[in-house]
Amino acid sequence: MLDKQDDRTVASIQSIDETRLASSADGNVLVRVEYSTLNYKDGLAITGKGPVVRKWPMVPGIDFAGVVESSSHPDHKPGDQVVLNGWGAGETHWGGLAQKARVPGDHLIPLPAKITARQAMAVGTAGYTAMLCAQALEKHGLSPKDGDVLVTGANGGVGSFAVAILAKRGFRVIASTGRPGEAARLRELGAADIVERSTLSEPGKPLQKERWAAAVDCVGSHTLANVCASLRYGGAVAACGLAQGMDLQATVAPFILRGVALLGVDSVYVPRARRIAAWDAIAEEVPVATIESVATQIALAETSEVAARLLRGEVKGRVIVDVNA
Ligand code: NDP
Repeated sequence: MLDKQDDRTVASIQSIDETRLASSADGNVLVRVEYSTLNYKDGLAITGKGPVVRKWPMVPGIDFAGVVESSSHPDHKPGDQVVLNGWGAGETHWGGLAQKARVPGDHLIPLPAKITARQAMAVGTAGYTAMLCAQALEKHGLSPKDGDVLVTGANGGVGSFAVAILAKRGFRVIASTGRPGEAARLRELGAADIVERSTLSEPGKPLQKERWAAAVDCVGSHTLANVCASLRYGGAVAACGLAQGMDLQATVAPFILRGVALLGVDSVYVPRARRIAAWDAIAEEVPVATIESVATQIALAETSEVAARLLRGEVKGRVIVDVNA
C-alpha cells in the first residue's frame, strides 16, 4: 500500500478487508492474483520518484496474472485465467501488487494458452511493450533485409525482450547497454553486437553517420536524439521509454532530410484486440526457456528494496513478484 506523508511516498505491506477493493474502481471482476511484477513505472510509483500515483492510498502494480474468483462481466467467469496490463492499474485504481484485485472486466485479457501466470509476469508490460515496438516497426515496413536494428537500454525489461523478439524475427540486433559486462547475456538473447551506452547518451550532431535501419528506444533524452540522427534514410525508431530522461532535444533534420519516422509506443491504453494480438505473438514466438531466463523472482515483502535497485539500473531483465510468498 502506498501512502503520501509530508510529500513523501511511504510503502507498506498491509492486510486489509476485501470489501475495500470494491471502492477502488468500478470493478466488476474479482481476481485472485497469482503473480505480479516490477516494471520501471512501478519503481517510480513505489519510491515516489515519479508522478505515477494519481490517487491515495494506492495499491501499486501495473500488471498481474491470476484466476477469476467472481465476475458480473459477460466475458469472464470464475476459474478463467487472466492477465492485466496498464489501463491505470497502480495509477488511478488499485493494482496488481496484492493478493486480490477488483477491476473492470474490459481491462482483462485471457492468459495465452502456451504460458503460465508466472511466465506472463516474466513478460509483463515490459515484454508486451517490446512486442508492440516490434509490431510498430514492421507495420512501418521494416524487414530484416533493411539492415541492423538498435535496442537501447538492452539489459532492462523492455530491452531484453526487444532483443529476443527482433532476433527471433530474423533481424540483426545491436544492443546498447551501460553494462557491457552483461554482453554474454545479451548475445544469448540474440544480440549480434553490443554498443556502449555512453556512445549515444551525450548531446550529438543533428545528422550523423547512417547506421541503423531501425531502433527500439527505451531511454529517451539525448539517446533518442542521437538515434534519430543516425537512422538510415527512411528508417524508424519505436520510442517507448525515458530511462535516461523525458526530454528530447533534437532537430527536425533527420525527419525532413532522411524521411525517418518517430513512432510513439504506448502500452497502457492500447485497445484490447491489439493487446491480445501482441500477447499471442509473444506466446507463439518467444520460447518459454527465453522467458524464464530473462526473469528473477522475489516475494512481495522485497518489492520496495528491488524497486529502488531497478531505478538505479541495477536489475537485469525482469522481476516476477510472488504475491503469495
Ligand atoms: P528497466 O529499468 O528494466 O530498464 C531500463 C534500462 O535502461 C536499464 O536496464 C538500463 O539498461 C537503461 N538505463 C537506465 N538508466 C539509464 C540512463 N540514465 N541512461 C541510459 N540508459 C539507462 O525498465 P523497463 O525495461 O521496464 O522500461 C524501460 C523504459 O520504458 C522505462 O522508461 C519505462 O518507463 C518505459 N516503458 C514504457 C512503456 C510504454 O507504454 N510506453 C511500457 C513499459 C516501459 P542498460 O543497463 O542495458 O544500459
